[in-house]
Amino acid sequence: MHSIAIIGSGPSGCFLAEILAMKHPAIKIDLYERLSYPFGLAVNGVAPDHLHTRKVTEQLQKTLDRPQVTLHCNTQVGRDISYDQLKSNYDRVIFAVGAEQDRKLDIPGEELTGVYGSGVFTRWYNHHPDAHHLNPVLGSKVGIIGHGNVALDIARVLAKTSHEHEKSDLSPTVRSALANNTIEEIHILGRRGPKEVSFTLPELTELGSLTRAQVYVPTDHVDQVDVSDLPMSQQKVIQQLQRFAEQNPTRTTQIKIQFHFNATPLSLQGENGLEALNLKHTLSGQPSTLKLDSLITAIGYQTPRIDGVPYDDAKKRLAHHDSLIEPGVYCVGWCQRGPQGVIPTNRSEAMSLARRLLKELE
Ligand SMILES: Cc1cc2nc3c(=O)[nH]c(=O)nc-3n(C[C@H](O)[C@H](O)[C@H](O)COP(=O)(O)OP(=O)(O)OC[C@H]3O[C@@H](n4cnc5c(N)ncnc54)[C@H](O)[C@@H]3O)c2cc1C
Repeated sequence: MHSIAIIGSGPSGCFLAEILAMKHPAIKIDLYERLSYPFGLAVNGVAPDHLHTRKVTEQLQKTLDRPQVTLHCNTQVGRDISYDQLKSNYDRVIFAVGAEQDRKLDIPGEELTGVYGSGVFTRWYNHHPDAHHLNPVLGSKVGIIGHGNVALDIARVLAKTSHEHEKSDLSPTVRSALANNTIEEIHILGRRGPKEVSFTLPELTELGSLTRAQVYVPTDHVDQVDVSDLPMSQQKVIQQLQRFAEQNPTRTTQIKIQFHFNATPLSLQGENGLEALNLKHTLSGQPSTLKLDSLITAIGYQTPRIDGVPYDDAKKRLAHHDSLIEPGVYCVGWCQRGPQGVIPTNRSEAMSLARRLLKELE
């Protein structure tokens, strides 16, 4: 019987356990999870109104039900069990710990009240134990920095009415905080242009169907974009932005969701809390100031250090060569490649690591 420790029970850890357990009946797998419940960002990240995406947990649960797989919750590697203990107790150790820390903007004023990382913020609305006391103060003008799906998720969750959130998986506290917000403007900002956004079409289109919000896209930023060199999925995203720009409405709804392109954040200002974001236009260098009551930075994540485990300081994730950390120790998922890719991306990566491990253990 071979023994394998997998650290982290998010999609990557569970997919890997599933393939190993399925292909090799003589493997015993221990999954270590620091929280009191499994599944990582499949429940802590995926937006609470996207229940169809969260259904992946039903599939991941089947892995945990396998007799060869044991889940150890409330067990943080590096605190409750050491790296050395794992190496001496198991034939193979695989880290699947994700990338839980928010990346910083590294601009003056980031410590002001009213500035939140998207990791902390999404953990708050997903009632994660590390953040459920956050009680964010949003005010009427909210900025979101980042041109990826996380920014769109946050804008949508904030802009939905209580009625639209009826089926969302929200705690009573978050439900009431969202229902009582007084948001009038949501600004979604990115350093680069429309061709560089990493939104996907369904998430972008969904913003256009909210009852109390309307989307504004600056026409001059999107009408001349040549999409011919872009992949089809990206072309469709630009076309959707162009449709939003063509329909730029006169203000009739409570909330305006405004996209900004080529906007480089320079500093944040405020006396007792955030009051404004100072920007420069990335191409012209022209400065501008945007009044804000709160700001959520959705600019990526990094893997926290784990005592004794080699760490890549430049890339802010575990140090590895083609997934190998040291003989017998591997990593997979967001702690291996950084915070990119959706849940299914982790399955294909887990599959290729599983093939390697199965070959080694033959
Ligand atoms: C806000 C947000 C929204 C997203 N929405 C979507 C979406 O709608 N659709 C989609 O397909 N993808 C979405 N993603 C991406 C998707 O969640 C990731 O691709 C996927 O979760 C990465 O899986 P992972 O297992 O590598 O990491 P994670 O899911 O982060 O899992 C890591 C696990 O390791 C545990 N852990 C960490 N450190 C330790 C330790 N020292 N000891 C023990 N356990 C530890 C954590 O508690 C966690 O359970 C979203 C991501 C974010 C951040």
